[in-house]
Amino acid sequence: MDPDVREARAIRALLELFGDATGLSINLGKCSLSPISGKEPDLANIINILGCQVVELPINYLGLPLHHGAIPRKYVQSLVDKVAARLPTWRGSLMARSGRLVWIKSMMTAVPIYTMMANGLPTWARDDIEACCRRFFWAGADASSRSMCAVAWPVVARPLEFGGLGVLDLRLMCLALQVRWLWLRRCPEDGDRTWAGLPLKVAPEVHCLFQASVTFVVGDGRRTLFWTDSWINGKSVEDVAPALLGMVSKRIRPSPRRCPMGVGSGSLGGGAHGSSDQLWDLIRDVSLSQSQDRLLWRWSPNGQFNAYRLLHEGSIHRPEIAIVWKTWAPLRVKLFLWLAWQRRIWTADQRRRHGLEARAACYLCNSADETCDHLLIECSFTHQVWD
Ligand SMILES: [Zn+2]
Repeated sequence: MDPDVREARAIRALLELFGDATGLSINLGKCSLSPISGKEPDLANIINILGCQVVELPINYLGLPLHHGAIPRKYVQSLVDKVAARLPTWRGSLMARSGRLVWIKSMMTAVPIYTMMANGLPTWARDDIEACCRRFFWAGADASSRSMCAVAWPVVARPLEFGGLGVLDLRLMCLALQVRWLWLRRCPEDGDRTWAGLPLKVAPEVHCLFQASVTFVVGDGRRTLFWTDSWINGKSVEDVAPALLGMVSKRIRPSPRRCPMGVGSGSLGGGAHGSSDQLWDLIRDVSLSQSQDRLLWRWSPNGQFNAYRLLHEGSIHRPEIAIVWKTWAPLRVKLFLWLAWQRRIWTADQRRRHGLEARAACYLCNSADETCDHLLIECSFTHQVWD
């Protein structure tokens, strides 16, 4: 609300009307008022009218820290501490690694996502949370796991089809959740959102990812931005006619339905002339209809939004591991197979590689070096199991 007496009286009257109509009276003594700048001239009068207590920012509201500037570190630290407290490190060493994996997945889905959706997470907090999870997964305790990590955490945090264990990658999830706000603001499927017109503060890379990933199918043209959205066969005006876009004021670029003829107040240079002709050839047959504009996610076959998976597309697709996750074996067996697939079980060659003492020859046949392939496939004793 604006800090003036008139609005305070109106809010008080509204709350009283709401209480009379529904029977749910608001206890103003338990409410609080947080001035944003701290220098509101009518603050004393407003407090008198509303009868609230004054609480200075930052405050916690619905579990989220609120502040007009950057969130202070101690508020974010409380989230990191909450994650650490959810990991039962005191009994971690008694749990199987598969159980610890399930625990981490469930905790990561539940705790940090709520905060990441609203405020994002600073890099140090993401690193701290991942370090807690890494120590718990590999060591089963809140102690150093440096010598026990068989696979790097970025690999563990990939989806199953990309050779990982499906643990959430907090950095990529944070990025995907911010892109989701831009998608929801423009997506017409759930009707107009009341917050859609408010300024949305996101990082430049989030905007770039959204622009590169979304195409528009023009219907009535109300939601499509003529200058900046990709609506011309999956391309934007910037792709088709960059010289022409350079002549358009940045102030009017975010306006939907701004006719290209509006450019013509000045003379066009030679490059802009060629660009405008090219653009006109592409859009002359476009006509508006009664249906709403539609957004399509360029990287999914059905056009549905899926930013988190897209952010892993740079990883190598590993279809051969799919058979391991499809089996009916217990998770601890699948986890062993996953490690063996990456040659990361503690056979003699691995132990020697890490400077540990190990007898080179296979303990079973004593006729070849003990490696992962030999022990699980080539050894004559192993053959008896497979045959
Ligand atoms: Zn052998």
